[in-house]
Amino acid sequence: MDNSKYIERLEKRGIKPTANRILVLEAMLAASRAVSLGELEGMLGTVDRSSIFRTLGHFLQNRLIHDIEDGSGSVKYEVCDSDSACSVADMHAHFFCEVCHRTFCLKKVQIPVTTLPEGFVMHSVNYTVKGVCEQCSKAR
Ligand SMILES: [Zn+2]
Ligand SMILES: [Zn+2]
Ligand SMILES: [Zn+2]
Repeated sequence: MDNSKYIERLEKRGIKPTANRILVLEAMLAASRAVSLGELEGMLGTVDRSSIFRTLGHFLQNRLIHDIEDGSGSVKYEVCDSDSACSVADMHAHFFCEVCHRTFCLKKVQIPVTTLPEGFVMHSVNYTVKGVCEQCSKAR
């Protein structure tokens, strides 16, 4: 297996590429949507929950990934788009399916930029649409 693209991505953010970190990043990129700790645990049968949790914390600190509060009660994580550090410009709207509880990325839907009162500094913005995803509406 060729891990060089994952290693490069980790090193770019100053993260030492350990075997577990490569596995977590690989799974997150493969999912191509925002995933919770529990979902990652299911994808990574070989890595235990506390290692995944630690890895996510490290990724967040180094701004390789960001977290999303989609209103489902569990935090979702996704890999940042840009090669540079995570910024608000990197964020997009999400769709939370109330049936399967998956959170999809709506990368083409830009988050409306709001004008804040003077002195207010924005760090993150959350824009989640809720409803039923394509798969679940077909199944009904
Ligand atoms: Zn980001
Ligand atoms: Zn669904
Ligand atoms: Zn997303």
